[in-house]
Amino acid sequence: MALATEEQQIVDEVPKGLLIGGEWRDAAEGATLAVLDPATGEAICEVADGTPGDAMAALGAAHSKQAEWAATPPNERGEILWRAFEKLTERADDLALLMTLEMGKPVAESKAEISYAAEFFRWFSGEALRIDGQYKVAGNGASRVMTLRQPVGPSLMITPWNFPTAMGTRKIGPAVAAGCTMVIKPAQQTPLSMLMLAKLLEECGLPGGVLNVITASSSGSTMGPLIEDPRARKLSFTGSTEVGRKLIAQSAEQVLKVSMELGGNAPFVVFDDADLDEAVEGALMAKMRNIGEACTSANRFHVAASVADKFAQKLAARMGAMKIGRGTEDGVEVGPLINADQRSMVAELVDDAVERGAKALCGGKSIDGPGFFYEPTVLGGVTPDARVLKEEIFGPVAPVIGFDSEEDAIAAANDTEYGLVAYLYTRDLKRALRVIEGLQTGMVGLNQGMVSNAGAPFGGVKQSGVGREGGDEGIDEYLETKYVAINLG
Ligand code: NAP
Repeated sequence: MALATEEQQIVDEVPKGLLIGGEWRDAAEGATLAVLDPATGEAICEVADGTPGDAMAALGAAHSKQAEWAATPPNERGEILWRAFEKLTERADDLALLMTLEMGKPVAESKAEISYAAEFFRWFSGEALRIDGQYKVAGNGASRVMTLRQPVGPSLMITPWNFPTAMGTRKIGPAVAAGCTMVIKPAQQTPLSMLMLAKLLEECGLPGGVLNVITASSSGSTMGPLIEDPRARKLSFTGSTEVGRKLIAQSAEQVLKVSMELGGNAPFVVFDDADLDEAVEGALMAKMRNIGEACTSANRFHVAASVADKFAQKLAARMGAMKIGRGTEDGVEVGPLINADQRSMVAELVDDAVERGAKALCGGKSIDGPGFFYEPTVLGGVTPDARVLKEEIFGPVAPVIGFDSEEDAIAAANDTEYGLVAYLYTRDLKRALRVIEGLQTGMVGLNQGMVSNAGAPFGGVKQSGVGREGGDEGIDEYLETKYVAINLG
């Protein structure tokens, strides 16, 4: 199926090469990789398939630019980010269309991601001016303690396909503000959004060599040597816990400073005093945003036993009525999953739950035809041994299970190796605070189905990661503190 004219125009505008030291180039061996539209399974275009040698050249460019970039006035770094915020906002429609073509989510959701992505540039444009230090009198009264904060140095960044732009700006924003150079590698499924972002950053005055972009089909062999190279000083990764574990082990070689934004298995807890309609609206947001392909997706719904059936029926009525289709079509609310493998994994989890006694209150099947569509599905009567409660679903499936007491709800919510986010619906303030304190997660949504906010520290505990992105803490990931002992005696 040929792309529509406006789709082709935005695809044509994207540079398809590697960005190394301010130049767009082909991969060393001239190889390319195809980018597919998950709604049709057809190729949209080809981009450079970088080699380990290309990636090394990118690290070389980042390394040689580091000292000059670190010395750039904070005002200049902040102004580049501010212009980038404005540019993303101006180009939001084009960028959203591009994102939908390669990732599949409905255009309205892609546009929301562009807005969220731009907010990181706005936030960190201010942070560039607030890199502080200390000067204080030491305990002995004679010495002085001075601290200054300096950029950590050339930073490696690896991003996933599910939020192709925002997972980039959440890293690039603080790195630019702090004065770090970068090599970034987007997921091979969604390179176009990152390539376009790099082009726009160039237009906003980001000097060549500060941001280097490598697209590649073999991520391990391309990025592995960089992680083990002493010129790199930082690794920021967003992706699965499985890959994150391997990268932490690899980072040990050079004792890299690491930030890890990994997988999740978010509990969505509804108490019997909650406003059930509001909880259903929040559940739709927490479950169906990004077609369920979000680390923050509500993975399991723990609902007070007295209202669990009612909640499940209301949610099924809403999810079962959602319009499914190619994300570029008007009114579509549910796009395709990213590829056939992802869809098979979702189907496997649903089949497993049903075999163990759960009932599909809506959906429950893959959709035939081109593209990788799966029906929005609510599972009632899920048994505690079902895999769907333990594993990250990454699809439009909502398992509902009842609980009897507050203690049971907290224990069930925490019964996972993950700890990214939890959602909690109750109108009882004391209960809310007790449960919030008991939850083992980095973030909690209280009577709210979404937590993402550039001005807030995003991140997880347990096997959901290390470090925080955004908020006051976000820039810390790209700074080192130097302490100077001063003798005034
Ligand atoms: P993934 O398979 O872990 O891949 C993430 C990135 O790592 C991609 O760029 C991938 O490249 C690259 N990669 C894979 N193996 C690698 C290796 N051995 N060495 C270096 N790079 C490697 O995850 P995904 O399927 O793209 O994304 C989904 C996962 O991301 C979910 O688990 C989700 O929860 C998590 N996520 C977390 C957050 C958060 O903030 N906590 C946000 C979004 C997503 P290729 O794909 O090109 O191989």
